[in-house]
Amino acid sequence: MRLYEYEAKKLFTQFGIPVTSGEVVERKEQAKAFVERLDKPVVLKAQILSGGRGKAGGVKFARSAKEAEEKAGELFGAKIKGFPVKKILVDQKLEIEKEFYLGVTLDRVNYKLVMLACSEGGVEIEEIARKDPQKIKKISVEVDQTFHSFQGNALAAWLGARGDNLKTVGKIAVSLFKLFKQYDAKLAEINPLILTKDGKYVAADARMSVDDDALFRHPELAEMGIEKRHEEGEMTEREKQAREWEIPYLDLDGDIGMFPGGAGFGIMGNDFIHYFGGRPANFMDSGGGPTPERLAKMLILLDENPNVKAIFGARFGGISRCDDFAKGVVMFLKEHGLSKPMVLRMTGNMWQEGVKIFKEEKKRNPDIFKNIEIHGIETPIEEISKRAVELEKKA
Ligand code: GDP
Ligand code: MN
Repeated sequence: MRLYEYEAKKLFTQFGIPVTSGEVVERKEQAKAFVERLDKPVVLKAQILSGGRGKAGGVKFARSAKEAEEKAGELFGAKIKGFPVKKILVDQKLEIEKEFYLGVTLDRVNYKLVMLACSEGGVEIEEIARKDPQKIKKISVEVDQTFHSFQGNALAAWLGARGDNLKTVGKIAVSLFKLFKQYDAKLAEINPLILTKDGKYVAADARMSVDDDALFRHPELAEMGIEKRHEEGEMTEREKQAREWEIPYLDLDGDIGMFPGGAGFGIMGNDFIHYFGGRPANFMDSGGGPTPERLAKMLILLDENPNVKAIFGARFGGISRCDDFAKGVVMFLKEHGLSKPMVLRMTGNMWQEGVKIFKEEKKRNPDIFKNIEIHGIETPIEEISKRAVELEKKA
């Protein structure tokens, strides 16, 4: 579960990591009132569950209460990186001398924890890691060990801090590591850690993600108002609907609706579509012997998605047989109908019967098959994938 910046900053404060004490607002008038009281230039930051807000227009500055109100209004009316802005963190604007990066995360390859630091903060660390990996200092720590203050100080020295600053930055690194472990985090990141013109270090941004499976160990998070949110903030309406129907489903940004068999077949189908130049609109898993009702719901998700131009259906009959699958789809076609073109292929258990059910129904009810092409094992999956891309281009 990802935390909002203002939530992560609450935890930072607990662990003695310096942050500016800003205010979270939900209306532009509140931003105005806060800046009137503060009477200093501010930064207004959209609270969304995504980084990269700066580049996407989610971070704005204001010198007066009136300007803060205006900028807050703009943010509330905007979607930043696809997220509607419901909360804004208004913070005193820091005068930047220099920006750094500090982060703790899991090194999944080596089964270790890793402290990361970089003397170029504020920018996307992933990009530096790609272009100039030597600019990032990495210190591995065994999962059952702590990050010691001597390591923190060494890291601070590497970042160029001297004298009292060395201890200050060292402490921040140690605290970040403690915080990471205390809350079973997957990521705890300060980007940027700002050295202000008047010589103070302040965490200007806070990013944290905690392990969902360890949330039960941290009732104190809920007490602080950090509720388990199933990442709802970042779920689309369709994903919420799918969750309610217990269908594993994810929206993607393409326009070919994916109606596959199990998860593996679904992933492979998405690869095929990409290979032939198309872009899937979703990932979906229908495995585990879906009932006709469930199949109908899956098709409703695709048919009612305005982004979907064509549907790719690929069924591999295993425990759930193709004839049952065909019956379910036919039921959907009769009751609901399909408005998008679909190409459908069945292989595996009882695929011939599945194809037969479709063919016979088509004779009785040609109208409901207007948009559908049915194939069996004789048509390779590559052909089906290409066909789906063709249908999408024609639509
Ligand atoms: P992100 O883009 O989502 O990571 O959002 P950040 O909170 O990191 O803000 C993006 C950038 O805005 C930072 O890298 C800073 O350069 C700048 N920024 C954020 N807060 C302040 C601030 O208080 N003062 C100044 N001058 N710049 C800030
Ligand atoms: Mn940032």
